[in-house]
Amino acid sequence: MKNNQKLSLGIDCGGTNLKVALVKPGGEIFKWTLAPINFKQKEERALRDIAKAVLTFLKKNEVTQVERVGMGIAGDVDQVEGVVRFSPNLGWKNVRVSAPLCQALGMPVILDNDANCAAWGAYCLDAKRNCQNLLCLTLGTGVGGGVILGRKLYRGSTGSAGEFGHMSIQFNGRKCKCGNLGCLESMLGAWGLTLSAEEGMDRGLSPELLRLTANGKKKITPKLIARAAHRKDAFAVALWQESGEHLGAALANLVNLFNPDRIVLCGGVSKVGKLLLDPTRRELAKRAFLVPAKHVRLTISQYDERLGVVGAALLASQ
Ligand SMILES: [Zn+2]
Repeated sequence: MKNNQKLSLGIDCGGTNLKVALVKPGGEIFKWTLAPINFKQKEERALRDIAKAVLTFLKKNEVTQVERVGMGIAGDVDQVEGVVRFSPNLGWKNVRVSAPLCQALGMPVILDNDANCAAWGAYCLDAKRNCQNLLCLTLGTGVGGGVILGRKLYRGSTGSAGEFGHMSIQFNGRKCKCGNLGCLESMLGAWGLTLSAEEGMDRGLSPELLRLTANGKKKITPKLIARAAHRKDAFAVALWQESGEHLGAALANLVNLFNPDRIVLCGGVSKVGKLLLDPTRRELAKRAFLVPAKHVRLTISQYDERLGVVGAALLASQ
């Protein structure tokens, strides 16, 4: 059996899947795997399944010892105590994660919010640690965020910093899952986008979406809304335009607040590319202060699928 002290282990805990990877110090993935985990069962059981999946993975790759283990989970996380305070995705409330996993694996487990892990991944992979200040926004089902300030992950006073998805963008806008009104996520998260698309379709504004969903029988996804826009559906084009403007306004707030060197976007919704990015750039330039807006480099991550798991591993070995 090999005893590779140089590798760190990253665990990215999604809603249904566990992504596990052995990561080299430079951020390259040595081996990785996906394991299905049932989060509908009791938390202790899910944690036992996670430990089992990790140990099986390590055994298969003949690795007995790693430097550190880092784990990212969507939700509000107490990094110091290793507790998930609340995770709507997993349905967890005040669940101790680090201690039982540490016991089962025989290794210390560092826990963090998944968007923080993704931000650290973007800092290491997209920016090659080559800047001081970086913001990362994960545009998935929800909208997450992470803040790197002075080459360090900034967590805030209670570990909750960087919730960019829950900035108020529309004063009296749609009710968000967090309880607030008009959050960025309620419009730009995949759930908000599809809700807007459904509303448009119900009002007969989008013949193309109606066709693409077989008269509403197929589920609307951001990908389908993008396809409708590429087919010049006026409603879908306008929806992306408006979404880009919302994102641009949010980024203008962030640029004025943090004056970052880079902003990296990742997650499924970022994959629509120019449809979203063009209006975003325009709005950002229009709203933010001139010098910081010119300075910041806004890109879509080139390492999307691995940001969370690599970030978790490298953050743990900090
Ligand atoms: Zn919210």
